[in-house]
Parts: sequence; structure tokens; C-alpha cells
Amino acid sequence: LKRRDFLKAIGIGGVGTGAGFMFGKATKPPGASLIPYLVPPEDIIPGVGAWYSSLCTQCSAGCGTIVKVMEGRAKKIEGNPLHPVNKGKLCARGHASLQALYNPDRIKGPLKRSGQRGDENFVEISWDEGLSILSQKLSGLAKTGDADKLYMLSTPLRGHLNTLAKGFLNAYGSNNLLHYELFEEKNLRFANHLSMGLNSIPHYDIENTKYLLSFGADFSIHGPSPVNHSYGYGQMRQGQGGVRGKLVQVEPRMSLTGANADEWIPAKPGTEAVFALSLAHVVLEEGFYKGADAGSWKSLLEEFTPKNAAAITDVSEERIHHIAHEFASARPSLAIGGDNLSSYENGLSGHVAVNILNYLAGNIGIKGGVLPNPEETFNGPVKADFADRLTALTSAARASKVKMLIVHNTNPVFATPGDLKTAQALNKVPFIVSTSSFMDETTAMADLILPTHTSLEDWGDDFAEPSVGYGVSTLMQPAVTPVFNTKSLGDIMLSAASSLGGRVRDRLPWQTFGDFLKESWRNIHRNSKEMKAKAAGFDEFWGNLLKDGGWWESDRNVKSPATISAARVKPAVSEKPSQFEGNEKDFPYYLIVYPQAGHHDGRGANLPWLQELPDPMTSVVWGSWVEMNPKTAKGLGLKEGDMVAVKSPYGEIAAPLYLYPAIRPDTIGLPIGQGHKSYGRYAKNRGANPLGILPFKEDKRSGALALNSTRVSVSRSGKAGKLVKMEASTSEHGRGIIKTISPEEFKKLKKEVI
Ligand code: SF4
Repeated sequence: LKRRDFLKAIGIGGVGTGAGFMFGKATKPPGASLIPYLVPPEDIIPGVGAWYSSLCTQCSAGCGTIVKVMEGRAKKIEGNPLHPVNKGKLCARGHASLQALYNPDRIKGPLKRSGQRGDENFVEISWDEGLSILSQKLSGLAKTGDADKLYMLSTPLRGHLNTLAKGFLNAYGSNNLLHYELFEEKNLRFANHLSMGLNSIPHYDIENTKYLLSFGADFSIHGPSPVNHSYGYGQMRQGQGGVRGKLVQVEPRMSLTGANADEWIPAKPGTEAVFALSLAHVVLEEGFYKGADAGSWKSLLEEFTPKNAAAITDVSEERIHHIAHEFASARPSLAIGGDNLSSYENGLSGHVAVNILNYLAGNIGIKGGVLPNPEETFNGPVKADFADRLTALTSAARASKVKMLIVHNTNPVFATPGDLKTAQALNKVPFIVSTSSFMDETTAMADLILPTHTSLEDWGDDFAEPSVGYGVSTLMQPAVTPVFNTKSLGDIMLSAASSLGGRVRDRLPWQTFGDFLKESWRNIHRNSKEMKAKAAGFDEFWGNLLKDGGWWESDRNVKSPATISAARVKPAVSEKPSQFEGNEKDFPYYLIVYPQAGHHDGRGANLPWLQELPDPMTSVVWGSWVEMNPKTAKGLGLKEGDMVAVKSPYGEIAAPLYLYPAIRPDTIGLPIGQGHKSYGRYAKNRGANPLGILPFKEDKRSGALALNSTRVSVSRSGKAGKLVKMEASTSEHGRGIIKTISPEEFKKLKKEVI
């Protein structure tokens, strides 16, 4: 190859790639690709990036993003500085979502199953064929009167995609639109409804509080709004009015948030609700609460004396008095409950207890406390439509009442307790369509795969829940043309509606999801005085939406403080700690599972940046581990790195041991996220999935899963495995690298120096 030919080939190849992304095809004849850069499209200036506002869909917080695009390629994602939820910040998962777009394991076009279910054998088909199979199956069901046996299971959808999905199923004749995610805040949502009648998650105003008491809320990386809460925490620690806010964390296994706390209280697993109610008891007894209904609260909380609670929770009476006193004295203070509290069998009671504590301390409806969010926003009720349950699908499937299932961006075969036997249930469904862009465990069971765009390639919108005390919407726009041969879910539904004809086509007449979205916003604008005051014409308003990334109200719209009555919450108040499966003799340890930073419910495991991201507490990368207190390990003759078997009454997994001093000696910690059997080269056959050894327990009222509800045993395993961690040692080896000093010594020293 001559030098001149080589340079020609490189030049053509480079431009071809960029131009391909702009024009929607990965491969182009070299000549056709060269011309646009001599006369580039008007939105491309070679070498200069353009920023598009969009939405992060990696979790349900609804953070606004801006995406840097150069020559048709997305290069970087940042937080939208105008966005009220995340204020220009983004978590690691938001940043890493760029790797979903260019992931080499993306499904590159429609596929039809050619082998056994689950063995990942598929053949490529065209979109025409894929859409035709979909509409034939749908017509077939409708003709036999089985339209109501169509189910759709999706990640929790909000905004107009949810409206369209509901409209499609409804017009077709099915009410079976279900949403599933492992961490869905069901207990938090239900407890707020039960206690205060709220229909949406309130805003926890961490930013303006002076004293934050967190019950298992690892809000730095998880929960309903991690970036907003982390931002608030940063502001709180910098001090309001010269006072630095204090954080107290209650949890048996120290989380990242716990590691940042001033005090860590390792209450016995499952007793946090009792601990919270004992604090409420002290708040009442010491006269901090002056309400006319004090008598009814006293009788409800009579049994929760510090003495009784100390015997149950393993927290001393003195400490209970001390924390209660501090909490009620600090103005404003705030109690919050998180995933760890939610994940017990009595998780709902735990969140109700947190609400009672906030109410008696006067924290509801005030700045720095709990601020109810508006329940109505521009496109109707804010309340997320997630009261549905996965068991509605698994039970119907087992009873052969599901003839066809469409699964969108949720992976229940991986992310459900093993005891639910989700794969077995889904195997009874005659026809499964997956719209995932990745070959995850549920998609591997599909008969037809119609892969959809990532958030960087698609239209969409979102109405944040929890919001920040006022309505916030976010617009998602395609920052790049599709990298592969994928489609929008909205377009797939509209295409199916058009093929089905009749009522379905009449109710969904739009050509594209983008058209539907724009028309919906035209109606919202038409009916809003505030929006019209900012931009009289819709075109100007739409242009602003695209530029700013969404629309948010300008004023806080705090409702009058909600009240809680003792009679209303009584059924959720119990002095019994949460129950754990397995007898203490055979299964000596409580098991606490938690979402691994970066991997969430397992969805982040296919992104190498997130695999490479050291866990903030253990520094482990690319694998699983078992957390055990060093004292417990010593008693068992185990050392760090040993492969151990963790066994529950429901199964067994193996992973290397990590010695973790910040966990109770009677408790074992396991991170969720690894252990995929499918899901691409970075995730497949890596680590262990602790969900596989969990019982299936669902709160009857809220539908929340009780993930922390079994005991386990730990023993040496014969399996091979390695602990890969970035830290060398947590010991200072006597060198005193970190000097510590008591407050008394400091005061003395200060006097001497000054
Ligand atoms: S918290 Fe992180 S993952 Fe969730 S929406 Fe915000 S940036 Fe995305």
C-alpha cells in the first residue's frame, strides 16, 4: 500500500464514520460521505461541538442532561445547569450512559428466534418483517377474542410515552400495562399516602435542613433522586446561617452515605422502625410536640420506651435519648428512609415511623423538612402509575392467561428474587416480544426482538417524581441519529396501530412518536397561562423547550402542611421487628443486599466504565464480594479473598470474602448487580447474583419486595475466584498517617496557639 493510498483510505474511513452517524447509516460509499464535509450540513461545524439538552433515563430521578456532539458523534454527557432536579450535576451512571449508545453488544437490528428459548440463537430480519410479525400476532389475538391476554411489561414509564403505551393497549382491548423495577420506592410512596394522603413522593429538603437523620437511605448513590439529594447534602454541610448540618445514619451495614455521617448507628437489622418510634416516644415525652392530639400519639407510642426499644434494637437507652433530643431541638430537622429501610418485610411500617417522627418534630411542610410536591402538573396527575405488580404477570402466565407479552427495558428474569421463579413463569407465555437494545436475560427468552433507541437517539419527556416542591418536566430529543438499525418504542406502537386499523388506528393517528409528543406539548402550551406569558407562540415555546431542556414552574408551590393522625397510621405501627427466614442455628447471619454503586439493579453491569469504577466502600472492581466483619471471619478461620459459599434456605452463591469492619458481626452484606448469565461481554458470567438466593416476599399493601428477609450461613467454598480491589490496605501500619485529636485536646491546643 502506497503512503498516498493509505492516507486516502484513512481520510475516507474517518469521514465516512462521522457522516454515517449523521445520515442514519453506519456504512456509506466513500464518495457520498466526502461530499457533505465539503459542504457540511448546517448543524455541523467540523471540530466544533454542539450541545443538545436531553434527559437521563438510567434511573427514575429524571435528571436533565446536555450532550456534546461533534461531527455527528456524542462525545460527552453533562448535567443541565438549568435543570432544577440536578442543577448541572450528574452521577456516574448518567455519565456512563454514553457507553450504552456505542456499546459493541447492542442489538443492531430486529431478530427472530431460531433456537431454543434462552440459548440466544436468533436470525436477523428486516424491520418490515419484524413489524409484520408483530401486527399478525396482535391481529390473531384480537380475532380470537384474546386481546385482554396481551401484557406489556415496562420499566417505570412516565411522560407521554406512558400515555401512548396506555392508549395503545386500551384501544387494542387490554388493561395490562405493568411496570417493574427492583427498587421502585413502593413502600415510600404508599407510606406517604397512608400517613399524609400524598399521591406523589414529597421533596425532602436536605439542602436547608440542620439535622438529617437517615434510616438506611444511601442517598448519595441511590434512592428516588440521588443527584438532587447529594447536591442538597453538599449545601447542608457547607452550612446554613453559619451552622454546619449534622448527619446521623442508621443502618446495620455502613453505606457510602453512612461513611459521610457524623454518627453511624448500626441498629439490629429489621428494628429500625422500632428505633424511629422510640425517638418519637421521647419527642412526645419531653414535650417537644404541643399539638392538641398529643394524647392519641402518647397512647399509640406508649410501648416504645427507650428501655423497650434498646432491648430490641441493640441501641442503648442513652443514645436513643440523645438522638431524639438533638433531632427535636435542631430547627429544622429532617428524617428520611431509604432502600435499606424499604427492603424489610416491615418496610412500610419503617417509612410510616419516619413520617410520624417528622410530624411530631414539626418537620412537615417547612423549608428544610418534608415539602409536598404538586399532585397535578401540565399533563395531568403526577402520581407515577406504578401501583401495579409483577405478580399480576407471573401469576397470569402460570395460569396460561398471557398469550403475548411485550417487554420494554426491564429485566425481571435477572432482577427478581430467585424464589419467584420468573423465568419459569415467562416460559409459559407462547409469544414474547422484547424491545431491548441489549441481550439481557429476559430478552434471551424472546421470540421476536425489535430493538429500540437509546435515550440519546430518541424523543421523549418526563415529569419528575419526586420533584423539588414544584412541577418539573424534561424534554428528551435525539442528540444523534441512530447508530444502529433501531426504532423508537413509540414508533413501533404507532406502526402496529396503523396495521391493526379500526379503533386502534383512529385513536392513535400520528405518523411518528415525535409528532405525538409535539402535539401533546402544543395542547399543554395552549392551556397554560404561565407558558403563554413566556412565549406567546407555540413554535417559540417549543424552541425554548429544546434549548432549555424542559419546563419548570418558577415559584414554589408548597401546599399547607399535611397532618398525620394517630388513628390513620395505627395499622402500620408495630413493636415487632422484621422477620427473617431460616433458623438461627443453621443460618447464623442476617443478609443485607444492596444495589452496587453504578450497577443499580444490574442494568449498569454492561458498561465498562461502571465495571471499572471502584466500589466507593470496598474499592472492588469487575466482580462480586461478600462483606463480613473481621471478628466474625476470624471466628470462622476465614481471611480476605477466600472464596466463600453464602447459603440461604433458597439457594447458594459463591464469591470472594471482603473484610469489612463497618458491618455488624451478625450481618453479611452482598451487593446486587453482577452475576449475569447474558447481557454482553462485560457483564456475562461475572460475579454472583444475590437475588438468586432470596425468598419472594411482597408487602400485601404496597407491593414492595422484601429483599432483606432471609438469614444465611457462610462457609469456605471449593470454587475458584478472585477479589480484585484497588486499595492495598486500610491499615496505617502504625505510621499515624491520619492524626486524630479529641475535642478537649483541640480546645487546649487552640488556647495555647492563640
Ligand atoms: S440520578 Fe444518576 S442515573 Fe438517575 S437520572 Fe440522575 S444522573 Fe441519571
